[in-house]
Formats: sequence, C-alpha cells, structure tokens
Amino acid sequence: MRAECAALRYGGRRLGLVPTMGALHEGHLSLLRAARAQCDVVAASIFVNPTQFGPQEDLAKYPRPFARDSELLRAEGVDLLFAPSVEEMYPAGAVTFVSVEALSERLCGRSRPGHFRGVATVVSKLFHVVQPEVAFFGQKDAAQVAVIRALVRDLLLPVEIVACPIVREADGLALSSRNVYLSSDQRRQALTLYRSLSRVRELYEGGEWDTTRLISAGVEEFSREPGPRLDFLEIVDAESLEPLKTARRAALVAVAGFVESTRLIDNVVLS
Ligand code: AMP
Repeated sequence: MRAECAALRYGGRRLGLVPTMGALHEGHLSLLRAARAQCDVVAASIFVNPTQFGPQEDLAKYPRPFARDSELLRAEGVDLLFAPSVEEMYPAGAVTFVSVEALSERLCGRSRPGHFRGVATVVSKLFHVVQPEVAFFGQKDAAQVAVIRALVRDLLLPVEIVACPIVREADGLALSSRNVYLSSDQRRQALTLYRSLSRVRELYEGGEWDTTRLISAGVEEFSREPGPRLDFLEIVDAESLEPLKTARRAALVAVAGFVESTRLIDNVVLS
C-alpha cells in the first residue's frame, strides 16, 4: 500500500483518503465523491477496527460484505482500496496506542470507554501508511471529527481534515451501517433520534438558547417513543466537546440511543 500510494502521489498529485469500516452506504459514497472532486488520487480503506469496540459490542457481528463493497468502490472510481488484516494493523505484541485526552471522554467516549483511543490509534496508522494530503470524515460522527482534528494538530500531522455533511434517508434517519440490524418496526422507532434533534433545533431557531431547557425538550421528544433507550442528548462546543450553558451558532447537538441492542447516533449543528 505504501509503495502504491507513493507511486500514485508522484509529481505532487493530491491523494485523498476515505477511512471506513465497510458495509458501505450513501453516506460513505458521499465522502468518496467529495474526495474524487478534490483530489487526483482517491484511496479508501476498509478495516473493522477491533480496538474501537468494547467487549460487549458488535465487533463479531458487524456486517462485512466485502465483495459488494469492492464493487461499489470500483464504481465510484476509487484508485486504491486498503483492506488490511487485523494482524497487519496490530502486529503481535503491539503495545502502542494513541490517546487524545479529554475529548475522548466526551459524548460517545463516555459511554464507550476506549472507543476514541481505538479510533485515534487506527487513524494514525492509516495516515502513516497512506500519507494522504487530505482525509475525509463524516459529520455523522461529529465527536470523531473533533478527536481527529485534535490528533492532527497535536501530532503535527501534515493531513488536511474535511468533514462532510450527514446523509439521511428521506424521512430524516441518518444512514448507518448499523441500520441493517433494525427490523421495520425498530427502523420506525429509530426516527426518534432525529425527531428529538429537530425539536431542539426548532426551539433554538425560535429564540430559546438555554441548553437545560433545550435538552429537556429534546429528551421529552425522544421519550414519546416508548421503545428506544436514550444514552445521551447533549449540547456542546463542536471543537472541545465541552457542554454549553447557552446554545450558540455552530453548537453541536448530539444524541445517542439504543433501539433494542442497536446503538445509534445522530447530531445537528445549530445555525
Ligand atoms: P464507518 O464505516 O461507520 O466507520 O464510517 C466511515 C466514515 O463514513 C466516517 O467518517 C463516518 O462519519 C462516515 N459516515 C457514516 N455514516 C454517514 C452518513 N450518514 N453521512 C455522512 N457520513 C457518514
């Protein structure tokens, strides 16, 4: 992969990387298209990274439709696919990890201890192998974007980070590889995440800036749907992920919840 990337970068061609865990959907494809539009060479990676899953999480059952994914990447005109094995990414005896302090304890990091350490570690490895000039991430994982921006800043990595908008179904449900776990009734229940965010946004746009009140309205909206269990609904600074007392433009409203055992996340940025 290193040799291929070096050859394709030859002559100063701009190489963009789109890291994924596969099970590709329109959200991933939007990142590939953004990369295609902004780069001379596009590389994608597919790697279900074990270190970002907790012991009770869905690592074993995470969907891995590799042949279909490869076809989709080919159809999008991706130049290079990097799909390493776990043993290649984590050599036997590996004891080195990358930890972005503070940020990694916020939002999903609080409910999924070690998750962002796994993300920061694998993204560092991917950047070292591919050496992209630019890497594309989805705003769907807004906390991940904040963690990676901090990682790049703090380790002086020469990579530009581009965050792409959330791709949603027509009814508002954010696309996710985990949506395949949902039955049709659970799929309907899952909409409560987006509805609670929309409620917060609507009140904010109507002039309510007190985050305690905004959050309770969002939580109330979430609990109108009896099935799903709320993990968190927070309003935070999009860069530091610190909770805000007063909402403001560019504040991040992030929600996470479980529909049965499927954990889903979503967010909106206030404007
Ligand atoms: P994953 O395969 O879930 O690790 O996601 C790979 C990349 O795709 C991450 O940067 C995600 O934020 C991004 N992504 C996932 N779902 C969406 C979506 N619905 N819209 C935009 N980007 C997404």
